[in-house]
Amino acid sequence: MSTFKPELKKYELPPLPYNYDALEPYISKDIMDLHYNVHHKGYVNGANAAIDKIEKIFKGEVKDHDWAGVVRNFVFNSNGARLHNVFWQNLGSPGSKGGGKPGGKLGDLIDKQFGGFDKFKQVYTDVMRSLTGSGWTIMYYEKDLGRLVFTTVENHFINHIVDLPIVILLDQWEHAYYLQYKTNRNAYIDAWWNVVNWDDAEKRLQKHL
Ligand code: MN
Repeated sequence: MSTFKPELKKYELPPLPYNYDALEPYISKDIMDLHYNVHHKGYVNGANAAIDKIEKIFKGEVKDHDWAGVVRNFVFNSNGARLHNVFWQNLGSPGSKGGGKPGGKLGDLIDKQFGGFDKFKQVYTDVMRSLTGSGWTIMYYEKDLGRLVFTTVENHFINHIVDLPIVILLDQWEHAYYLQYKTNRNAYIDAWWNVVNWDDAEKRLQKHL
């Protein structure tokens, strides 16, 4: 009989950094309420349930398990929890914390790499529009080469999410916009430019320069 008692830390749902109506009119209060309290909380709970199962497997209490399924379930939910943690911080009230153009190092990098914000906005919008189905568009910093990189992520699956130097990201699951924008996902993508928090993006970039 094994006496090993694993102590695996659990995920927590961090508080939303603003009120549910803070991003209106671009993202409605009802969407924020459901998105945070149902969807984000669901990923946190799902990740913790996956950890409970892994603990039981370690203890020998679950004999008949499918590691591929266990790992897939853990990755799906834990990445979901982590991506939403960044997503809320990465947004801000239009006109005060959200929208406008980035300054600082990020603004310089965008100017150098894209020849100005307008060109960057056009290209990044095209990338966001190119994602079909549920997923995320992420811009991260490729540190060794000193450049910004765009990627699209299906569902929540991406390797090394813990260390990915995310600068900005957009949740493009239907639950993020359907209540307000219905099938017009491009309108949601266009609206996002009014609530993206460039100060948060700059802070994220600065951590990796
Ligand atoms: Mn979501």
